[in-house]
Amino acid sequence: MHVAVIGAGTVGLTTAWYLRERGVEVSVFEMEKPANGASWGNAGQILPIKSVPLSEPGNLKYALKSFFKKNSPITAPNTLDANLISFFAHFIRNSTKKRHLLSANEMFQLGKSTFNEFAYLESHGVDTTRTIAPFTSAFSSRVSAHSMIAEFQRISKKSTEIDFEMLDGVELRKQEPLVEEHYDFGLQLNNQSYVNPPRLVSNLEASLQLLGVEIKIKSKVKNVVRLSGKTKVILENGKSQTFDAVVIATGAWLNRLTADHGVRMPVVAGIGYSMTVDVPHQTQGMLYFPEAHLATTNYGNRLRISTFMQMGDVEIPRDPKRQNRLQQIAQNVIPRADWSSVSEFWSGARPLSGDGKPLLGGTRTEGVYVNSGHGMWGITLAPVSGKLLADLITGQREIPNAFNPLR
Ligand SMILES: Cc1cc2nc3c(=O)[nH]c(=O)nc-3n(C[C@H](O)[C@H](O)[C@H](O)COP(=O)(O)OP(=O)(O)OC[C@H]3O[C@@H](n4cnc5c(N)ncnc54)[C@H](O)[C@@H]3O)c2cc1C
Repeated sequence: MHVAVIGAGTVGLTTAWYLRERGVEVSVFEMEKPANGASWGNAGQILPIKSVPLSEPGNLKYALKSFFKKNSPITAPNTLDANLISFFAHFIRNSTKKRHLLSANEMFQLGKSTFNEFAYLESHGVDTTRTIAPFTSAFSSRVSAHSMIAEFQRISKKSTEIDFEMLDGVELRKQEPLVEEHYDFGLQLNNQSYVNPPRLVSNLEASLQLLGVEIKIKSKVKNVVRLSGKTKVILENGKSQTFDAVVIATGAWLNRLTADHGVRMPVVAGIGYSMTVDVPHQTQGMLYFPEAHLATTNYGNRLRISTFMQMGDVEIPRDPKRQNRLQQIAQNVIPRADWSSVSEFWSGARPLSGDGKPLLGGTRTEGVYVNSGHGMWGITLAPVSGKLLADLITGQREIPNAFNPLR
């Protein structure tokens, strides 16, 4: 069996890895180079309990208010096309308490074995760069800290014990001295993980090459068609190649290749920004400042800081003012970082599906599969999704209907 994977982000590469592990011959097509999309400058946090849909009553209210505010972390698209209108219709429909909880639980069930999957990749020679570390959210109100843990407990249905500690201001600063005085409460989740995203991708790429997987860069796929029992990948340069099956794992570009295969769920870009900076001392783990919507992760001996959600098409021009704004917000939250050392400004498009859940499985066209729409949590969910899809393609296991790309 020979399978083509389109897209060399973390999701495409992990899918390729699990397919290869199951004895499948694999070729990867990438329009630019690996990690050309969201898989490069993201925060690298592996947090299954947070890997839930964005559509939720509180987020809906917050997003609607933000759209009318200058300088808010979430910005509305400049223009609305049919895909975006469909996205917002799905988002609103899925933002009820009941639907959110159901979807959040489905996603938690998907993601909860991700630490095992990362460990599995590591024990099979992939250096995932993973560090086991706590994830600490810093709050100025005790109520917010308590409502976050209550939400985690609802999502997990207490089926998995969540290892957490509530910290007061003194304990919070003892654990994470970078956190400023006005944060009086902390919620620390223990035994979470983070990775170095660019190194994860290049290590996956190296492992695949060792396993004999061909990665074709600068190979933009224009179309995928089914002909005479085979699936044909047609490139923009006019060349084509035939496979037994094809996986479309093109992140926020997904809808460009899936319309002919019955996929109606919109996937739009949620553009986020990041940068790195020197800090006087490394943080013990990942930090999250919910009020400022800011996440930080150790990145080598620097700190990577990320935020923002600019909705739109994946190709919309990036807003240079966002870089200054990111730095201003981060400077207020973490004044003790060395702000003369800022570098690696980056932006990338999170693949946001209308209902917030990944699209994982077959399409209306035999031999054409999809693995995308992981939104804010594609690094966390990549190994579990890649494994499930490889199992489906090799006939070992079905995928829960909740993630059906034809839903
Ligand atoms: C600021 C920010 C912070 C984030 N933090 C986290 C985090 O802490 N934890 C977490 O789990 N997730 C995080 N995410 C989300 C995560 O980065 C994404 O969900 C994930 O990278 C998506 O991976 P992907 O492989 O699906 O898509 P991408 O990484 O976007 O890869 C898609 C690839 O497909 C290629 N491609 C597209 N079209 C074609 C075509 N026609 N032919 C050939 N190739 C094509 C692209 O060039 C690209 O390389 C964050 C995202 C952002 C923006």
